[in-house]
Amino acid sequence: MIIWGIRKYSIYTDIDHGIQCPHCSDKEEGVELEVSRKHLRIFWIPTLAFRKKLSLRCLNCGSKIKLKSLRDSEQVRLMNLKGKHRAPLWQFSGLFVLAIFIAIMIPVIQNSNAADLEKIKNPEMGYYLRYRVPGGGYSSYYIESVSKDTVLLRPLELSSRKMTRLYQIEKLENHSDSLIYWSKSDLLQEYTDGSIYGIRVD
Ligand SMILES: [Zn+2]
Repeated sequence: MIIWGIRKYSIYTDIDHGIQCPHCSDKEEGVELEVSRKHLRIFWIPTLAFRKKLSLRCLNCGSKIKLKSLRDSEQVRLMNLKGKHRAPLWQFSGLFVLAIFIAIMIPVIQNSNAADLEKIKNPEMGYYLRYRVPGGGYSSYYIESVSKDTVLLRPLELSSRKMTRLYQIEKLENHSDSLIYWSKSDLLQEYTDGSIYGIRVD
């Protein structure tokens, strides 16, 4: 389950005395201005930032003031002010967490692939070679024995529709007694083709 929400963060607030309220014409109390940004938070970590927003509120009459209702020169000044204030980097901490996670995971995945390739090149009795069944599903071969150039395999007589459920049926008693021979080079070919996608070693 992913817990997420959207939250507004204030980047900058000030009271501006240079703006005349278009609603009540007051200039004394001032106008409260706020630059803010909404964030998508995943597990309470700010991850994605939306566009920055500038809000203006008259402190005399309480009305919200639209930027477009102000003079052009005021609009330019306020847009510059909005551009000047940037969101602090911590507001993107989710992206840093994600980047670090990816940076850690890439070598882990590469290492596990290299380890699998090594096992395919040097198969041993007792390995389960997991493969994609043509037409859909997942099944495995049990390596019964290995000789110089060939492997003797016991095919699983069942297949699983889901890769993650294969372990439920991948038991030695479900593997056929009718053995098949494969050359080691065939095995490597099946692996590089992606037909064999994993190896279980107990
Ligand atoms: Zn006002």
